[in-house]
Amino acid sequence: MLEEFSRVYAKIDLDAISKNVENMYNSLPRNTKMMAVVKADGYGFGAVPVARMLQDNSYIWGFATATAEEAFELRENGVSKPILVLGYTFPYAYERMLRENIRPAVFRYDMLKHLSERVKKRRAQGGKEVFRVHIAVDCGMSRIGIRPDVDGENFIKTALSTEGIEVEGIFTHFARADEADLSNAHARYKEFDEFVTKIQKELDYNIPIVHCSNSASIIDMPEAHMDMVRCGVTMYGMWPSDQVSRDKIEIKPVLSMYSHISYIKDIPENTPVSYGGTFVSDRRMRVATIPVGYADGYPRSLSGGRGYVLIHGEKARILGRVCMDQFMVDVTGIPNAKEGDEVILIGKPHTSFGEYGSEAITIEELGDISGRMNYEFACDINHRVPRLYAKDGKIFRSYEI
Ligand SMILES: *Cc1c(COP(=O)(O)O)cnc(C)c1O
Repeated sequence: MLEEFSRVYAKIDLDAISKNVENMYNSLPRNTKMMAVVKADGYGFGAVPVARMLQDNSYIWGFATATAEEAFELRENGVSKPILVLGYTFPYAYERMLRENIRPAVFRYDMLKHLSERVKKRRAQGGKEVFRVHIAVDCGMSRIGIRPDVDGENFIKTALSTEGIEVEGIFTHFARADEADLSNAHARYKEFDEFVTKIQKELDYNIPIVHCSNSASIIDMPEAHMDMVRCGVTMYGMWPSDQVSRDKIEIKPVLSMYSHISYIKDIPENTPVSYGGTFVSDRRMRVATIPVGYADGYPRSLSGGRGYVLIHGEKARILGRVCMDQFMVDVTGIPNAKEGDEVILIGKPHTSFGEYGSEAITIEELGDISGRMNYEFACDINHRVPRLYAKDGKIFRSYEI
């Protein structure tokens, strides 16, 4: 273990990400493209190392981010495949997006106007780029996107005839593809498919890349794969929800998180632990302090015994409140626990020979008991937690990948 990672670190298993992507891809028909969603710094796992690793994969068409800045970061770090920004992009970003071949999602007339102006300005300077765009269609989220109606059709017509703009794609996003009852998602898929088919026929133009599926629908709605799918959460070893089928595709956990005991002490009966004294010992106890807190993204809502960690492969419950930078656990039942011992915050007990035992803390479980979901839990593990990457059996820092 590298000394400077003693306090806390997250280990991201890039080989597992690779395997998960491959498993997702292998479930698709052969002519379906795949877009890897690396928004929010790759769901907290590191957009740059993940995208760098995946971009050599011939079946990865490109990447999706939520913001222009996330796309710029990828470009700055050598990611050259297409990037689509899934959310709204503000006009200040257009010039750089145009130069760096970053596709905006479009759905507002003023976007078309500003994008086109940017292209014309570049042309006056000798630039030859066109703005490739993907039209966002709203089928059930009421978030961004044109409605699949006559107004929507008019928007597409305008986009197609706007100088400097090339409509490369059209997409929607399901609100309810991660449920056991998929009747809503099926109806929304049909609505989208019919809308796109109708407009293409009317305009006698085929939009090259029609896409709608996220992880949940890749798994449970094979009829909705269309030209391309957008794979996010499952790449990172997490399930879209507990209602998505688990038996169709194998998904390996990617993230584990570790700390080391900073202090151990015995406390007598009737001793309060942590802020507010919400926990008071009812007997003599052994308490271990863990130097991690909610300022690392470790949720305060795990306080009061809701959360636990693994020490020597055994569960140690959180006592009292999680503080900003530390929390305490009960090691009364783990007599060999001592200062400096490894603490597993997420993951499975292991030795240098591999994992052991039946206990494991999954991000799904912590997501549930903390009242965050797994997606949110992963995104909230913040920059104070250094990331280490495992690849081909070796450990790397993010800049070494
Ligand atoms: C985040 C996102 C995805 C990926 O969803 P997962 O559930 O993580 O697979 C796909 N499309 C859009 C528009 C998104 O915002």
